[in-house]
Amino acid sequence: MTFTDTHTHLYSESFDEDQAEMIQRAIDAGVTRFFIPAIDSAYTERMYALEKAHPDAVYLMMGLHPTHVKENYEEELAHIEAQFATRDFYAVGEIGIDLYWDKSTLAIQQDAFTRQIQLAKKYKKPIVIHCREAFDEVFEILECEKGDDLFGIFHCFTGTKEQAEKAISYNMKLGIGGVATFKNGKIDQFLAEIPLEHIVLETDAPYLSPVPYRGKRNESSYLVLVAEKLATIYQKPLDEIAAITSKNADNIFFTKHA
Ligand SMILES: [Zn+2]
Repeated sequence: MTFTDTHTHLYSESFDEDQAEMIQRAIDAGVTRFFIPAIDSAYTERMYALEKAHPDAVYLMMGLHPTHVKENYEEELAHIEAQFATRDFYAVGEIGIDLYWDKSTLAIQQDAFTRQIQLAKKYKKPIVIHCREAFDEVFEILECEKGDDLFGIFHCFTGTKEQAEKAISYNMKLGIGGVATFKNGKIDQFLAEIPLEHIVLETDAPYLSPVPYRGKRNESSYLVLVAEKLATIYQKPLDEIAAITSKNADNIFFTKHA
């Protein structure tokens, strides 16, 4: 039984002390593939080093995180385009809109999100969306960009059932992580009504640790706790959860799209 962590920041400074051991713990727990979202250009070299150290397990994305869309974002977008021009990535991510940390940058966040979606289409890649307190704003852009060439993952999905169905209507899988294990996380209430074909697993390590590690540093081995929660919600054996969610990840990251 093997699991796929579709969203984990293994290159984070939080793992500087024990990165290799932490990755080995995950592999020992059956989490054998790691999809790595970008933040901004400051992390690019760390991401390449991580890939070099674990070439069989690490799959890199490239993109500008919405909370890092600042005055210099034109330079950041140029950096991303330059990386894509020289090598391959598995997705454009993580990208989107975050109005929790800073509402004043909404206009440039919208611009950066739209342009990165267009970059993903150019390279026929999926997008990985970060959306915080910005469902309306994110859906507005997806509505403009929808089509066969738009697909990806709605990472750390925390919305309502209606928002889940809307995200799926734009060819998005729902990235489910530690929040599904929270007492007040809410998504566990309706998830069983969303077919498992639309779900992928993620940790978002080092953030959003599942229960019983809530509030502590998250790591990819804890993905199994999220999978166990889904086994309870969907009333399916754990190996079936592992197989279906890994296949869903393959469909996003490895299938050639129009
Ligand atoms: Zn993330």
